[in-house]
Amino acid sequence: MNEFPIDEGVIKYRAVHERGDLFAHPLLGQLDDARTELFDLGLIGAYSNGIGYGNVSIRHQSGCIISGTATGGYRILGASQYCGVLDFDIHQNAVYTKGPVAASSESMTHCAIYQANPLVHCVLHIHSRKLWLRLLEEGYPSTAADIPYGTPQMANDMVSLVKDRTTPFGLLAMAGHEEGIVAYGQTILSAINQIKVLLDLKV
Ligand SMILES: [Zn+2]
Repeated sequence: MNEFPIDEGVIKYRAVHERGDLFAHPLLGQLDDARTELFDLGLIGAYSNGIGYGNVSIRHQSGCIISGTATGGYRILGASQYCGVLDFDIHQNAVYTKGPVAASSESMTHCAIYQANPLVHCVLHIHSRKLWLRLLEEGYPSTAADIPYGTPQMANDMVSLVKDRTTPFGLLAMAGHEEGIVAYGQTILSAINQIKVLLDLKV
């Protein structure tokens, strides 16, 4: 078992990862297909400095199955590039993961949304400057601009935003995480279709 404390200024995000077999979840193929669609739209990918962005997950047991860390640049992942988040602790900013790869460092955000509404089964995190600015301008729910990404405050903000809504689907802007948007829904289709509607694409 390995521990990866990631120093983000004063905040310590702690991922306790155990190597394990890949997951055979019946919806994993559909999730990976949705991720490929988002990749082709440029909403998941890698910046010119090589840093990847965007990640996808589905609810699984008390956590989720999420795309692995540093996978943004790959068009198709397959089951071997996903990781299980078995448990998490928002207050301690810690996630407990198992799988063939380590989880995305944004996994806490996903877990916070699953915790906030038990009807949510898919969370998609994408990056787009254009859409991010538009959501902020149009007054979509957003996390506060002074809350940096990857902090317990961000996760807590997510929980209250999702809890406040009467529907188990929605779009959120992360004002303190440049270009960061989250779409979530009861199904993979409902989550991705909200992004497509925003882009005027056929759903
Ligand atoms: Zn992000």
